Amino acid sequence: MAKHVAVVGGGAVGTTAAYDLAERGTDVTLFEREEIAAGSTGRAAGIVYDAFADSVDARVADRAVERFREFSGEGDFSFEVTPYVWLAREGDERRADAIREQVPRMRSHGRDAALVDPEELSAEWPALRTDDIAVAAVARNAGRVRPETYPPLLAEKARQAGARIETGVEVSLTADPPGVTTRSSKTAQGGGGSAEGDSEHRAFDAVLVAAGAQTKRILSEAGIPVALKPYRVQALTTAGGPSGRSNEDGPAVPMTYDATGEFYLRPYGDGLLAGDGTEEVESDPDDWKRDGDDAFVSSMRDGLAHRVGVDADVTDAWAGLCTATPDRNPLLGELRDGIYVATGFQGHGFMRSSALGEVAAEAILGEGGIPDYDPTRFTGDEEFDIVEGMTVSE
Ligand SMILES: Cc1cc2nc3c(=O)[nH]c(=O)nc-3n(C[C@H](O)[C@H](O)[C@H](O)COP(=O)(O)OP(=O)(O)OC[C@H]3O[C@@H](n4cnc5c(N)ncnc54)[C@H](O)[C@@H]3O)c2cc1C
Repeated sequence: MAKHVAVVGGGAVGTTAAYDLAERGTDVTLFEREEIAAGSTGRAAGIVYDAFADSVDARVADRAVERFREFSGEGDFSFEVTPYVWLAREGDERRADAIREQVPRMRSHGRDAALVDPEELSAEWPALRTDDIAVAAVARNAGRVRPETYPPLLAEKARQAGARIETGVEVSLTADPPGVTTRSSKTAQGGGGSAEGDSEHRAFDAVLVAAGAQTKRILSEAGIPVALKPYRVQALTTAGGPSGRSNEDGPAVPMTYDATGEFYLRPYGDGLLAGDGTEEVESDPDDWKRDGDDAFVSSMRDGLAHRVGVDADVTDAWAGLCTATPDRNPLLGELRDGIYVATGFQGHGFMRSSALGEVAAEAILGEGGIPDYDPTRFTGDEEFDIVEGMTVSE
């Protein structure tokens, strides 16, 4: 008999898991308290690459990019192949050494990553400033997406495979036995929803909590502590890119992470999208500032002027929440009988979501899992510091 599974969260990970579960014949219902992609996924920068130095991460990212390429062109989702460059500036020996050390490890796992001379970078992307670079590397199995277009595609694919997608339905978790209590704010898509204000308990064989920054609260209210901290990061967009060149003509710059400057940028429409601004303090997932800070905008403008010579005309600046764990690996798998979790992606959740959702589905079906990501490796009581997500590891 088919398993009955609830997925909590309509972000990139939850919709992928719902799709993979439905495809494999599971009776699956996805609950999203707002709209699909309303959480961090809809606020992400859409930088995707497979350049990870750890073998498990590299394997996951390889699968993720493979799937993004497969899905590209369906619905509004498109994966635009764009190289990813990361660099350390002269004088920043610590990060320069880290890049020198990472690249051979990435290559040993089959990743298309290579150290690159500043002159070669300059020849390929003249708009990129390279005269201050000590070490740079380029990963070619990389691309940029509009992340908000991915969950609607996967939710629709899940629906076509038989899943029920219920939006505007906030759930709380019951752990023993697995189930959810739903509170609907509107009639659900795809049938099965309840009227506004109704509260209903529904039993499932398994519940996957993929609720992003809300995951810790949902689990702890069901009596399950997890070692997880939400933290705030920021991004902005600009009108116009380097030298006034339109990115639609082919990007004037690669996706770039200036490790010394601690910021990233990517082509975005006719302009750029850039970000950093990690607050290394725990955020309240119900009370955080959604707009970008003035200080963030100012430092990004300096960074963009420095790296790509752009006097940025900022069109939007926003914040979102990421989730940190003590060892910076995800929490992905079974936590208690029938209670599964998928979170803790340290700012790299979108780029791996198409694989991580699949792994979560397989774990629920008893087909696998990733031991390094086993969520029971922590008790939930651990003290730990938040370490910036998109950093160059030391
Ligand atoms: C500014 C910014 C830039 C980023 N850039 C990148 C990037 O370039 N590349 C990258 O890989 N990652 C990036 N990230 C990280 C990425 O956004 C996340 O890791 C990823 O989107 C997490 O997806 P998710 O599905 O786990 O969570 P989410 O997208 O947050 O989805 C969780 C969903 O659960 C729903 N929910 C919560 N509580 C409940 C409840 N009780 N009942 C029902 N539903 C509930 C929420 O409404 C939400 O829609 C960035 C993040 C930010 C904020």
